[in-house]
Amino acid sequence: MPYLKLAVGELQTNVYLFFSASSRNCFIVDPGAEAERIIAAIEKEKLLPQAVILTHGHADHVGAVTALLSRFHLPLWLHEAAEKEMRSQVNREIAAMFGLELPPAASRLLTNGETIGAADLKLEVIHSPGHSPGSILLYGEGLLFTGDTLFKDDVGRTDLPGGDELQLRCSLDKIRKFPAATVILPGHGAASILEQELKSNPYL
Ligand SMILES: [Zn+2]
Ligand SMILES: [Zn+2]
Repeated sequence: MPYLKLAVGELQTNVYLFFSASSRNCFIVDPGAEAERIIAAIEKEKLLPQAVILTHGHADHVGAVTALLSRFHLPLWLHEAAEKEMRSQVNREIAAMFGLELPPAASRLLTNGETIGAADLKLEVIHSPGHSPGSILLYGEGLLFTGDTLFKDDVGRTDLPGGDELQLRCSLDKIRKFPAATVILPGHGAASILEQELKSNPYL
């Protein structure tokens, strides 16, 4: 599978390196913390980062962004609503509590339905509010990066500011429509397969 996963920081956020096996180009998804470890993994695999993409703006998913942008001179892409949630008072407080730095302004604001690409990499953006207003799913090569929208056998909480249970249910409806063999890569915890989640996840 064309990805690598590292769990970083106190909340064990999954950072994904989505890459092309032939060109080594890669996207960095949700670099939450521990920039040095992420950089070491990139260098070990001889990957060529093209952009940092965020599944949403919560502090635990963005803590290493600034360090990576300056190390590799990358653009930062996230949903327009995620840019707002990232700057919220609550998110600033959480970032301060965990000693995490919030990123500079995004280079590009993503919208539902667009395909984002760089070199030979391509991912589809699906807006999936519920856990937060700016949550997105990223889909490509049979992989679905679900952020904190869907976990193995669980879903993201909706009790944080901007969370909305009804919206989350609509977003889960979108996930159900993907091919059964889709690999689910959540923002925390183990990976899964959609077919399995449809059987075992009580929220799907
Ligand atoms: Zn979150
Ligand atoms: Zn999270």
